[in-house]
Amino acid sequence: MTPEGMFSDIPVEIGVVFEGERIRKQVMHVELGGPQVKEKFEILRVKPPEEVINGEVKVLGPDLFEMAEGGAIPFGICVEVAGSQLEADMEAVMERRIHDFCNWIEGFMHLNQRDGIWLRVDKKAVSRGLTLNHVGTVLIRLFRSALPIIERISVTIITDPALVHRWHADAVRTYEERDARTRGMTDEDVDVFYGCSLCQSFAPSHVCVITPERYANCGAISWLDGRAASRVDPRGPIYEIPKGVCIDPETGEYEGVNRVVKEKSLSDVSRVQLYTAFGYPHTSCGCFECTTFYVPECDGLGIVNRDFRGLTPTGLSFGSIADSTGGGRQVDGFHGLSFEYMRSPRFLRASGGWERIVWMPSDVREKLKDYIPADLYEQIATNKEVASMDEMLSFLRVHHHPILSRAAVAELSSPGSVWAVADTHEGHPVPSGPGAGISITFHNIRLHADRIFVKKGRK
Ligand code: SF4
Repeated sequence: MTPEGMFSDIPVEIGVVFEGERIRKQVMHVELGGPQVKEKFEILRVKPPEEVINGEVKVLGPDLFEMAEGGAIPFGICVEVAGSQLEADMEAVMERRIHDFCNWIEGFMHLNQRDGIWLRVDKKAVSRGLTLNHVGTVLIRLFRSALPIIERISVTIITDPALVHRWHADAVRTYEERDARTRGMTDEDVDVFYGCSLCQSFAPSHVCVITPERYANCGAISWLDGRAASRVDPRGPIYEIPKGVCIDPETGEYEGVNRVVKEKSLSDVSRVQLYTAFGYPHTSCGCFECTTFYVPECDGLGIVNRDFRGLTPTGLSFGSIADSTGGGRQVDGFHGLSFEYMRSPRFLRASGGWERIVWMPSDVREKLKDYIPADLYEQIATNKEVASMDEMLSFLRVHHHPILSRAAVAELSSPGSVWAVADTHEGHPVPSGPGAGISITFHNIRLHADRIFVKKGRK
């Protein structure tokens, strides 16, 4: 709820009721950032008071009504705040609120975070007079109202491509500096983890559990950021999770985590194992930077990121795989991830870690080069080397990928197999049945499927 009259000078409605509003291409005036645009970002910086002109909104570049309909525009938002109680450690968490607050604007959609943002504005909002200046004004009022510790605030919105390019480089440097702060810390170094429920407006049963070795799915909140946020607003959407007894150090299951996740998910999720993609994996909302997908033909996992525009060797795009992953569910093999979690020594440790990864887009492999074990780097296939499942299986054999040593796979992934999987994942049965036809055996499970893909096999 917003106080009556707070937005009477804004030509569209403002309120939490518009969260979750989707703007389809047919009704879209313009796209800001998004997958078709290389450079986009949003950032919030804490500044000394004398550097923030309180209440100022600047738009650098064309405004909405000056943009050609149907286009995709390089885009940046920079929010600068000052306050006697504010610290740089709080930047990331406050920055994440840009997502919420943009989504409160009728006809304005915001997805993702940092340098992955994707916004759309609909034709009706622009025809009613919505401008980027209004967007900046709304952000300022909502930030002030939600976070009274902000004493001064200004917003700069950038649509000039040359300026986006310049500001983008600074933003990326800042993200990297933030991420590097928790590297080297371990889960054993701390007594509490942090939970975040900010994405429950989209995925009501989702709770992010943020530990020193497991960055948030969105890639925007580290353990240190969680600590700063929960200190400022202990009853806010980011809160402490006392670890409690460690039930299983390998999978990363903690009594305290289970208790809090159960409570915050209203009993939808009662067990979470932080370092596995099977069994009781961490839930995925919809903001993950990347997701794994299960590859039954070799019992491996692929990884695909949000910006990848092609098809994975399974024939599915990021969007289709993300549909199978998100919504706060626990789906075997389909697991939302941040880039920073993939830099963690505990990355999917209980599921085989990097040895389980068989495919990823080439630029993702390059980005993570320093974190993928050196002997595995060339063994992981990318979109540059393979385009189909057959090509991928052949690549894995030629490069002696360790996935071939997993039980059942070496035998079943011989040339000519179209459906070859292991019998269990960490004790959980999965579909099985090689050969020309398909036979599926399930043991003692309840099955819910939003979609089923049936692929024609080779003769
Ligand atoms: S992805 Fe997780 S940490 Fe990030 S905003 Fe959503 S719930 Fe919070």
